[in-house]
Amino acid sequence: MGTKSREERTPPKPKTPTFQLELPLVAEAGQAARLGAHLEVGRQFYNAVLSAGQRRLRRMRADPAWQAARAIPRTHKQERKAAFSALRERYGFSEYAFHELARKLRVNWLAEHLDAVLAQTLASRAYRALNRVCLGKAKRVRFKSKSRGLDSIENKRNDTGMRFVLQTQNQGRPHGLLLWHNDQLAALIDWDDPVVAHGLAHEIKYARLVRRRASSPRAQGADREGERYFVQLVLKGLPHHKPKHTVGTDTIGLDLGPASIAIVPREAEARLEPLCAELRPDARSIRRLQRQMERQRRAANPEHYDERGRPRKRGKGAPRWKQSHRYQAIRRRKAARERKLAAHRKSLHGQLAHQIVRVGHTIITEKISYKGWQKRYGRSVGRCAPGMLIDHLKRTVASTGGTLIEVPTRSTRLSQFCHGCGEVVPKPLWQRWHQCPCGIGPVQRDLYSAFLAAYLDPAADPIPSCARYVVPWEGAEARLRAAHERATQRANEGQVMPRSMGIPRAGARLPESRSEPTPKPVVLAPSRPAGNVEGTLRTLRA
Ligand SMILES: [Zn+2]
Repeated sequence: MGTKSREERTPPKPKTPTFQLELPLVAEAGQAARLGAHLEVGRQFYNAVLSAGQRRLRRMRADPAWQAARAIPRTHKQERKAAFSALRERYGFSEYAFHELARKLRVNWLAEHLDAVLAQTLASRAYRALNRVCLGKAKRVRFKSKSRGLDSIENKRNDTGMRFVLQTQNQGRPHGLLLWHNDQLAALIDWDDPVVAHGLAHEIKYARLVRRRASSPRAQGADREGERYFVQLVLKGLPHHKPKHTVGTDTIGLDLGPASIAIVPREAEARLEPLCAELRPDARSIRRLQRQMERQRRAANPEHYDERGRPRKRGKGAPRWKQSHRYQAIRRRKAARERKLAAHRKSLHGQLAHQIVRVGHTIITEKISYKGWQKRYGRSVGRCAPGMLIDHLKRTVASTGGTLIEVPTRSTRLSQFCHGCGEVVPKPLWQRWHQCPCGIGPVQRDLYSAFLAAYLDPAADPIPSCARYVVPWEGAEARLRAAHERATQRANEGQVMPRSMGIPRAGARLPESRSEPTPKPVVLAPSRPAGNVEGTLRTLRA
């Protein structure tokens, strides 16, 4: 083992760029049954590795040396690293050791279903899951239950085991086949789709089999169990670039909120928009299904709730939860809706990313804590997935040769900074406007921080300085105001805007002047002299 682990320490091969292509598979009844059996074996194997690995992790953490290693201050980097890697070596907690484990576990009937390489990738997956627990990034690992199953399995290479091949028959266009054991599953290929044609012209690194549940067994392409199979090809190279997606040259500042985005380029038009507003109806229908399922659960399992309707504690001896057929049908429908929502969201993210890249290829934004956001704005973050948008944008920008720069929030503090006086004043959440006694503003706060981001120089100094902004502000102020006005206009036309944007709901009357962001209530005191009352009335009229 000693020689091998040294081998593992040699620097990894440089990573070549990859992209993916997904193709639906045609699985006949017999093939689908065999695929299901292979995946079930994969599931059991994954659980076995995960369980053995979990034991190793527990033993390692129970070792007094673990606490000693943790006590080494973080400033002693080398020492700390050495202590932890010695522990990992002793308890066999490494990806390589997991591969060894997988080799020992893959015996008898398991080996008939699972190729050696596939077993290895499953072991790597189990290791990654446990390593997250080890590093404190996750609390626990999840075993794959029989009902949920293992829904994907992948290879490492495309020459043995499960692999994808293109076959040319006489003169026609090539057929794509996923080969696994003795089965040949035909892929549906639309050669007229430029994305598909581009993908298949590239070298295949490896293939991944994915199983998805359709909304019902009668759904198109589903097998008797209501399942559909797809192959995901991991390809070498860069993804297809549609000619309609042009790339701009501007520098853009972004301010991303849980449900909104402010986009301020240095030259082009600024924008303030809700994130994924189109998903609202879908999310609402999912919530309705959730409520229906909750009612069904309660009706079928009264013994699980106390007299006040609160769920009882779940223990070991508790009776099983009953699921009506109708409940199962609704659950399936909800899962299908949820998949649809996720796909819709992805396409909206893609659209927005391309719109941004069309304006400019240098993008500056603050790095945000998505985890913290999830805790504070669970629902919006769940629907809009701003973290996924940033990832999507990062990929799009990178594929066009641009850069997305994330500056640390703690040092820049764009949402607190005022370029007029250089003061750093935190704004409470409800305060949607930046207005400073020094004369800057009022300006919508998200647009303002996106403006500050646009003119940062992250290479030299990610801390904003007043001098930088004096000239740009002259031209930007009007653009920011115009962006806010356009958003207000759309709200008046009936589009729902998140409250965080500081735009009153459609139909609500707007104050005519934005010069007073938070108008103070006017009190008409009877004892005041007449002139004063007239003054207040004038303000009321204005
Ligand atoms: Zn100021």
